Amino acid sequence: MQQRIVVLGSTGSIGQSTLDVIARHPDRYRVYALAALRQIDLLETQIDRFQPEVAVVVDPEAADLLKRRLADRGLCVDVQTGSDALVHLVQRPDVDTVMAAIVGAAGLPSALAAAEAGKRLLLANKEALVMAGPVFMNAVRQSGAVLLPIDSEHNAIFQSLPAAYSGNPQATGISHIVLTASGGPFRGYSRDQLATVTPAQAVSHPKWSMGKKISVDSASLMNKGLEVIEAHFLFGLPAEQIKVVVHPQSTIHSLVQYVDGSVLAELGEPDMRTPIAHALAWPERIASGVALLDLVACGQFDFAEPDLDAFPCLALAFEALKRGGSAPAVLNAANEIAVAAFLDNKIAFLDIPEVIRETLAAIPDTPLSGLDAVLAVDQRARLDAQSRVESRA
Ligand code: NAD
Ligand code: MG
Repeated sequence: MQQRIVVLGSTGSIGQSTLDVIARHPDRYRVYALAALRQIDLLETQIDRFQPEVAVVVDPEAADLLKRRLADRGLCVDVQTGSDALVHLVQRPDVDTVMAAIVGAAGLPSALAAAEAGKRLLLANKEALVMAGPVFMNAVRQSGAVLLPIDSEHNAIFQSLPAAYSGNPQATGISHIVLTASGGPFRGYSRDQLATVTPAQAVSHPKWSMGKKISVDSASLMNKGLEVIEAHFLFGLPAEQIKVVVHPQSTIHSLVQYVDGSVLAELGEPDMRTPIAHALAWPERIASGVALLDLVACGQFDFAEPDLDAFPCLALAFEALKRGGSAPAVLNAANEIAVAAFLDNKIAFLDIPEVIRETLAAIPDTPLSGLDAVLAVDQRARLDAQSRVESRA
């Protein structure tokens, strides 16, 4: 039987890669719904290609425009709008699988709703786990949702763990995991050099082609910081058992080191269609369109310690993880505000960690009892970080 799939964030980098893999296997997958913020030109092309039953355009004006265009062409697709529509969509009984590929905190309510509804959940939206880790993992356990990580590092760790891994690193003989980092476009830069880098430089990643926000996160190493927190919640590992190593080739996507000295890793071309195809088909395997790795052509692999002085965002994420509670949600909110301000030329690249540091210091810890508590902390941290941005701009 075909898996009926909802692609949240279908017009983004991950969304487009997901549709690329799905299109290779029409016998296995049926696109039930597509969802995006407002990029209706691309969305219309995707609708023509995949003929979903539902399309959600969160922006109401863009939704109206798309409705009119589709009606003019005599196409009957149920076009909905508003962020609540995303939540209701993923809860429908005729949805099997949800690809959560909206960027940032905006993706949390729908990803969490899919977890609560016990769906097969392909999670690209790492911010959802960073903000709401305990709430999210609890929902997965209670509903029996199948949670498959799309982030390439976490997908690599997932593949390198025993199939029956139950979230207990001690019982599994895990010493620690190693997340690899490409180092981003500014690898090797000094603080002086980082002081003047521009948004255009920050978004041109040497190895991966991604959306703007995650590209800036890669340049600041906050992406790796968010991934450390993501790994903590996904795999039940304390901060001390999560290491980061810079590996500029991005061929080794991450590793698990076991107490007997064994190291298991997943390698491949840096192309997100590999983890997407893995998660779509798991526990089976399907072709992804990605070229097979040619080891001889790879040549040399390099490894280095991350430079925490030049890239303090990674250290801030470790601090937030150790502090626990609502600190990771505050870190994420302040980062989203600071990155948007940097992309808008309002603050400098090196202001990003400063805004985050100050916001983390200013917002007291609160318990994360559920989605509302998470969203309240997120909102408070955003306002605080925004005022710090304004005072710098
Ligand atoms: P992107 O910017 O290319 O795409 C974002 C998508 O989210 C778009 O479809 C956009 O319409 C939608 N969106 C944005 N705001 C929205 C809102 N308020 N409501 C509804 N939809 C909204 O981002 P991306 O690079 O595809 O990344 C998506 C997620 O996947 C992020 O959380 C990112 O960290 C994660 N991720 C991406 C990559 C990658 O290679 N791109 C790798 C690992 C993890
Ligand atoms: Mg990653």
